[in-house]
Amino acid sequence: MLKRTLVAAAAALGLWAGGALAQAYPTKPVTVIVPFAAGGPTDVIARIVGENMSKTLGQQIVVENVVGAGGTTGITRGAQATPDGYTLMMGHMGTHGAAPALYPNLKYDPTKDFEPIGLAAGTPILIVAKKDFPPKDLKEFVAYVKANATKINQAHAGIASVSHTTCLMLTHQLGVKLTEVAYRGTGPALNDLVGGQVDLMCDQIVNLVEQIKGGQIKAYAIATPARSPALPDVPTTREGGLPEYEVSAWNALFAPKNTPAPVVARLNDALSKALDDPTTRKRLLDLGGVVPEGQQRTGAYLGDFVKAEVARWSPIIKAAGIVGQ
Ligand code: ASP
Repeated sequence: MLKRTLVAAAAALGLWAGGALAQAYPTKPVTVIVPFAAGGPTDVIARIVGENMSKTLGQQIVVENVVGAGGTTGITRGAQATPDGYTLMMGHMGTHGAAPALYPNLKYDPTKDFEPIGLAAGTPILIVAKKDFPPKDLKEFVAYVKANATKINQAHAGIASVSHTTCLMLTHQLGVKLTEVAYRGTGPALNDLVGGQVDLMCDQIVNLVEQIKGGQIKAYAIATPARSPALPDVPTTREGGLPEYEVSAWNALFAPKNTPAPVVARLNDALSKALDDPTTRKRLLDLGGVVPEGQQRTGAYLGDFVKAEVARWSPIIKAAGIVGQ
């Protein structure tokens, strides 16, 4: 009798269906929407973890680049997708932290419209410039940017993107306004920085290590308290005399709200296995990514983290006096 009652209760809660679904899932390829252009940090991180997750899940993970509006176009599409585990999103500090403060009519709420799967990587921010940008170090950079602001172009990946908001912090602190050039992601922005068509950028480390090491661009500082093992020669903003400029970003996987809990758990497990896989880990670490550990890997942690990020960015953006789109 008790057993029957339990079965009925479980069925009413959808647990039965959920359990069966989780066992069968996934039966076809899983799409991860990357809201920026191919080749940039969000795309690279999605492809690195996605490759290993495919092995665990036994189905291909297909990256779909849906670009526009600082990543909010792709995330809006993903938020509205059928919540069946076959459409996921690789969001970041911009799409799930800064965007609400910059887009008053944003069609999703980062804190309510998603099932957080887990953090994929932390990504320190660096101040970089084209290789023949005149300043030699961060001190000279600050003086040069202040003196030449009207002539300087700054690349970013659209309003509310990481590169936009983190450079907004920087230029606000320096009291300057630069000419902004928006790209579909910092992959294409980096190409133009290497080509010298734009002057400078603030971006996630995973996009930059190779070009800094190869001397194709200049790195002035990394905005974290400690240097990165991936770029041991690049000084911190503290060392360089700009300690007030410290900021980091991150990328994380999300599913649309109401994706069944067993499916989200399966995805979280596959992501965590990817982060423990030696090859995947090494690829992320070589690019300067910070691999989340322990508690930081849970969906609950990511959910709370997103709330904290939205709360953190709103006053920064208000202080910078930027009007929403
Ligand atoms: N790093 C980028 C940003 O600035 C986007 C990208 O991943 O291409 O938000």
